[in-house]
Amino acid sequence: MRATASILHLDLDAFFAAVEQRDKPSLRGKPVIVGGTGGRGVVSTASYEARKFGVGSAMSGREARARCPHAAFLSGRFHAYRETSKLVMQALRDLSPLVEPLSLDEAFVDLAAAGLDDLDVATVTEVGTELRRRVHEVTGGLTATVGIASSKFLAKVASELDKPDGMTVVPPGSELELLRPMDVKVIPGVGPATRERLRRAGIHTIAELELVSEDELVSLLGQAQGHGLWRLARAQDSRPVVAEREAKSISVEGTYDADLNDRKLMAGLLTRQAKEVGTRMRKNGFSGRTVSIKVRLHDFTTLSRSSTLSSPTDDGTTIARIARALLGDLDTTGGVRLLGVGVSGLADWVQEDLFGDAPDEEEVEVTLPEPPRRSWPPGADVVHDEMGPGWVWGSGSGVVTVRFETAETPPGPVRSFRMDDPALHRWEPPPEE
Ligand SMILES: [Mg+2]
Repeated sequence: MRATASILHLDLDAFFAAVEQRDKPSLRGKPVIVGGTGGRGVVSTASYEARKFGVGSAMSGREARARCPHAAFLSGRFHAYRETSKLVMQALRDLSPLVEPLSLDEAFVDLAAAGLDDLDVATVTEVGTELRRRVHEVTGGLTATVGIASSKFLAKVASELDKPDGMTVVPPGSELELLRPMDVKVIPGVGPATRERLRRAGIHTIAELELVSEDELVSLLGQAQGHGLWRLARAQDSRPVVAEREAKSISVEGTYDADLNDRKLMAGLLTRQAKEVGTRMRKNGFSGRTVSIKVRLHDFTTLSRSSTLSSPTDDGTTIARIARALLGDLDTTGGVRLLGVGVSGLADWVQEDLFGDAPDEEEVEVTLPEPPRRSWPPGADVVHDEMGPGWVWGSGSGVVTVRFETAETPPGPVRSFRMDDPALHRWEPPPEE
C-alpha cells in the first residue's frame, strides 16, 4: 500500500455490448446480449438494459432468452472489440508509461510514473475525470468506470463501486473503513469455494476476516492463501503495476469461419502452425524454450496454456508435440474459433535438440470444414453492393435480414435478401500480421 492514491484501475462498462450499440444505432438504449446465440453458447456480455432483466455474463443463452426474450442476441465481432481496446490502451499510455492491461477492457495505470505535479486526492481526481472524458472521445462514446487508490486491490474494488460511468477515489488512510463492511468475495482469489469455506467458519465480511488470526487462516485455507488473505484483509497489497513487457515471441494463429469441434482437426491445425513457427524461427536464427497455445472458444473466452522446455528448440516437430499435449488438457466443448501456437523466451542460439532424432511425423492432412451455408451470424458486419454497410439482423429459411446503419449514421432501414444473393457480402477486417 502506498502513501498516495496513485494506482488507477479503469474498466470499460459492458464493453462488448457497448461496442455493438455504438456501431448499431438502432440498438442504443435497448437490451443487447453478446454471446449465447448458439444452442450451447453462454452470454459473454449483457448491456445494462439487459442486466435489468437479470441477464449476466456466463449465463446460458437459453436462460438469457427466457429472461429477456426481446433482447438483440449477437454473435460478437472480436475485431471491433480489439480495435477499440487498442485505442483505450493508447489513451492510458499517453497518460503514463506504466500501464498493465488485464484484458481487452481493463487495465491498471501507475499515476506515480505519469509525471504529475503531485499525487494529492484533488489532482488524481482531476486526472481520472479527464481520462474518462478522453476514453469516451477516442472510443466514439464508450464509458468507463475508474477507481483510484493506494494499491491494486483497492483501485480495483473502487472501480466496482460506481458502475457504470463513474469514478471512486479512495483517500489514503480510509482504505480499511471502505473495506470492512464488504463481502469477502471482493478480495482477489476468493472464489465460490473459498467464500463457502469462510462462510462455514462464520466469516462473511472483511471486518470479520480481520478478526481472524493469521494462524487460523492458514489452518483454514492453507499456507499461500491464508497468508495472502490475512494481508489483504488489512489492505496490505504492494504489488507493482507491471507494464507489458516487449513480447519477444514468434507465433502463428488462425481464426475460423465455422466453429471447430473435431479434436483431430484441431491437433492437425496446431501441428501445421507449429511447423510454420519452427520455419520462421530458423529463418530468423531464433530458438525458444516456452511453447504456448491459444484457443478462443465460441463465446470469446480465450484460453492459453504453455510449457517450458529445459533447453531451447526451433524444431517444428517438437513444438507441435508440445502444442498437441497442451490442447489435450483443454475443454473445447461448444467449439473453437481461433487456434494459435507460439514460442517465446527466445534466444538467438540453438542448443542441441534434447529430444534427439525424433522421426519426422508424416505430413498432416488438414481439411477445414466448409463454412456453414448459413454463414450469417446475428450482428455480423455485411456490405451490400448498392445499400452499403450494415449488420445481420437475423436469418433463416434461406433469407437474411440486414439493417443498414453504422456508428456514423442514424438508425437505418431493414431489408431482406436471399442468402445466396451475390450482392451481399460478409465484411471482415484484413488479417493483422
Ligand atoms: Mg468491463
